[in-house]
Amino acid sequence: MAVRVRFAPSPTGRLHVGNLFVALQNWLFAKAHEGKFLLRLDDTDRQRSTAAFAEGIGEDLRWLGLAWDEQVAQSARGAVYDAAAERLRRGGRLYPCYETPEELALKRKAQLQSHQAPVYDRAALRLGHADRAALEASGRKPHWRFLLDRRETRWDDLVRGPQHIDEASQSDPVLVREDGSYLYTLPSVADDADLGVTHVIRGNDHVTNTGAQVQIFEALGAAVPRFGHLPLLIDATGEGLSKRTGSLSLAELREAGTEPLALLAYLARIGTGEPMRPVHDPGTLVATHDLSRFGASSPRFDPAELAQLNAKHLHETPYDAVADRLAAFGVEQPLWEAVRGNVATLADAAAWKRICSERIEVPREDPPLLEAAAALLPPEPWNEETWSLWTRAVGAATGRKGKALFHPLRLALTGRGDGPELRLLLPLLGRHRAHARLATGNG
Ligand code: GLU
Repeated sequence: MAVRVRFAPSPTGRLHVGNLFVALQNWLFAKAHEGKFLLRLDDTDRQRSTAAFAEGIGEDLRWLGLAWDEQVAQSARGAVYDAAAERLRRGGRLYPCYETPEELALKRKAQLQSHQAPVYDRAALRLGHADRAALEASGRKPHWRFLLDRRETRWDDLVRGPQHIDEASQSDPVLVREDGSYLYTLPSVADDADLGVTHVIRGNDHVTNTGAQVQIFEALGAAVPRFGHLPLLIDATGEGLSKRTGSLSLAELREAGTEPLALLAYLARIGTGEPMRPVHDPGTLVATHDLSRFGASSPRFDPAELAQLNAKHLHETPYDAVADRLAAFGVEQPLWEAVRGNVATLADAAAWKRICSERIEVPREDPPLLEAAAALLPPEPWNEETWSLWTRAVGAATGRKGKALFHPLRLALTGRGDGPELRLLLPLLGRHRAHARLATGNG
């Protein structure tokens, strides 16, 4: 059986790390099983879905290198849902109901007062043809509920293990609204059936829906996919991540200098207790992919841990892997190799480029030392040995050593108290600029 999975975001906002966690697990599952990864835009909410958000989702996934094999939008698939609804109606599994939201609220209240579960009482099933005709003549339009088989539905969850939902404790779900539009459940099942989805991997906020969905697959005569329900990520305060608050959107993380592979490596292992290690090829993540490593508890997304992994990732990144992006900053290979061990984001390399090639003012601590150092600068060409030969001579001439020697030199040469090895930076600065900074504090 060829594996087909789907990532099904609603284009009602930009993706956040919680969405990406789900997308990535689907993508890895597809790769691990040589299957297909589908992008399904759940855009049935016409009010809140926009083309710009749909475009943003595509842009985020492309940035991360999560290529998809097929794409569909629910807004274009009404005929599939109409056919599914028709089949359920014919099978006696979709029935019209006429209660207003106020009437339903009253029923629930009465049930709760008499200590009953607030499950829909199926009063609409007792309506005769004449009752329905009278209600419709009075202007009421039906919404449509799926008639649940009141039994226990079971499935073996790829993440959580054996699960069961007792459908006797659930209300028959509304699949079609009064205006004829569909709620999430029917389009989702009809699409999964029509597109041959074999594994539904999604957030555990859908566990309770799964019982009814399994029954709808069966009522449609479709193969029931396997399900895997991932825990939802939480932030530092223990709150769920919500795209409506814009929290930790991928767009923001990208803007802040997050490397795609660092983010993927982080989300591949979050919550598993395994050490965070940089990866330079997403294939490495496929090899260790295993949905059962995630439990039911919510992994905490820690931006500081991601930033650390991001820095580690860059420290190991060879020039060729980032050459095009560095070109935008005018950073060439020798500079990258000198500074990569000291950057947290790629943009930090641009800052070092400016330090090496633009005129800056620098602090002049210990002027006699700096004057002697300027006078002792050897003629060019310089290489990686120049620094130690020169500082040995400066030390001998001035009697300074250790921090008293190196700190004022570093400050005067770069304007900063720490940074990359000066052995590598000095040849990039060049004699003219180094001399001016040491002798005048400006160069
Ligand atoms: N659009 C739904 C969501 O984002 C999809 C759920 C599903 O994967 O079935 O929650």
